[in-house]
Amino acid sequence: MIDQTNKPSPEEIQKEFEDFVKKRFGDQVQVVSQQFTSDQMPPQEQAETSFKDNEIDSAKEFDLNFRYKPRDIKKYLDRFVIKQDDAKKALAIAVCDHYNHVRECHENPDSKIDDYSKQNVLVLGPTGVGKTYLIKQIAKLIGVPFVKADATRFSETGYVGGNVDDLIQDLVQQADGNIELAQYGIVYLDEADKLAASDHQRGKDISGRGVQFGLLKLMEETDVDLSSGNDMRSQMQAFMEFQKKGKLDSRVINTRHILFIISGAFTGLTDLIKDRLDHNSIGFNQSVSNVSDDDNLLKHTTTQDLIDFGFEPEFVGRLPIRVSCEHLEEKDLFEILKNSEGSIIRQYIRAFSAYGIKANFDDDALQKIAEYASLEKTGARALMTVCERILRDFKYELPSLNLREFNIDKGLVEDPKQHLKKALEDYQPIADMHPRANEIEEFALSFFDRHHMNLLFTEDAINLICEEAEAANATPVEQCKSIFKSYEHGLKLVQQNSGQSEFLITKEVVKNPREALEKWIRESYDHTNSPTILN
Ligand code: ADP
Repeated sequence: MIDQTNKPSPEEIQKEFEDFVKKRFGDQVQVVSQQFTSDQMPPQEQAETSFKDNEIDSAKEFDLNFRYKPRDIKKYLDRFVIKQDDAKKALAIAVCDHYNHVRECHENPDSKIDDYSKQNVLVLGPTGVGKTYLIKQIAKLIGVPFVKADATRFSETGYVGGNVDDLIQDLVQQADGNIELAQYGIVYLDEADKLAASDHQRGKDISGRGVQFGLLKLMEETDVDLSSGNDMRSQMQAFMEFQKKGKLDSRVINTRHILFIISGAFTGLTDLIKDRLDHNSIGFNQSVSNVSDDDNLLKHTTTQDLIDFGFEPEFVGRLPIRVSCEHLEEKDLFEILKNSEGSIIRQYIRAFSAYGIKANFDDDALQKIAEYASLEKTGARALMTVCERILRDFKYELPSLNLREFNIDKGLVEDPKQHLKKALEDYQPIADMHPRANEIEEFALSFFDRHHMNLLFTEDAINLICEEAEAANATPVEQCKSIFKSYEHGLKLVQQNSGQSEFLITKEVVKNPREALEKWIRESYDHTNSPTILN
């Protein structure tokens, strides 16, 4: 417990914070704050709890019990990512090497393993073929934080320093503030090809080169000081720490064990490779036709190709693992829809089932979706676009229809508008229930408790009572009491005569309650002819 007698006053805290900011930033930064008085401060208990939570977070024990083998990782990836077998294998090996090394260092912190070179990875391949998806799934499997950023974010400014610190801050955030875990995270830098400085990229070269050099140190090993963050959050954290300890511990992350994955589409690189292979084929009798497919050409990328493309040799040197992902064909897109555990189709099935609708997708429908998507040339990303285009209006309309099953066949994919029109004609809208409908249910329950007779209200009866209640400025329960005031005696009589214990309250009954009751009583004297008996 915090000692209440030494509790600093709000004014003291405020002063301390101002001094702290002044010490750090001089007179350039001023604290503009709301003035708190002692009685406006949060209760001490509350303040203490939130502080404790923070401590627990950062003290979370590091648990990287890495025991996977490359085959395990590939097998796991197969559940989600279709095709890309070479990439899966290469990544699985690289990730196992990296985290086995991390584990060894963690288990024997004193042993210096000098001959290890870090397995940072370069992933090449067109857009939407699963590059990010592969890495995300790997991070999820092994339980390390994952951060993705576009390299263009740096090349715009040409300045790496502060922005890169932000990347590492993001990693800490992804690790719920657990700095130790963040040190073993994965940083994924997309669109790295935009950092290249070759002829066809002219104009970006100065900043691009600068960023490459900035990233070099980070990919290798450097310390990033988290408390130097300029955002309010870092400053508040630093302030709290200063408050607690009277000094600032440096919150430093070493990037030695962070795995960097650099990726991009590398458009234009294939031309370089093709030229080289063409040229070589003269001397080495290699048939270029073997590798004429542009996507497969990326498999043949050499260090020199990347340098010719515009990368600094030092930068390429820090990326010893090269992985290429292939273009996805129509049949692959079908396979993704049908078999990937992350398939968008599963999302649609879940979305419809939330409204009690069972969605069934025919294989022919999936085939047609794949066909449309492959025309868009954005890989699996197009599956989402095509599905949205076909199904969005169904997602909007069907939940309001009285429909329990929704079959998606080829015809629907080809002409969604026509199918939606038919569904709207064939199925009744679900009657909109009044927001206070549940109060009628309460009345029925209490009626049953008192008289052991069930009043079963139809939807339109409920809505009518609620509307009448609104008009009479009464609650629905008060309205029920007024409509059915003589019912308990009358219905008891019916029950004695015929044994009937359930009564259907329709809109007509609500409109003419006396008439309905008299009719039931009359009929009860001849209970062989009792149309309102429900059970
Ligand atoms: P990129 O290659 O541009 O990084 P992504 O990995 O971000 O593409 O792919 C976008 C989405 O498309 C993924 O989240 C995933 O749902 C789907 N996807 C892409 N490629 C595949 C694949 N090979 N297998 C299964 N799903 C894929």
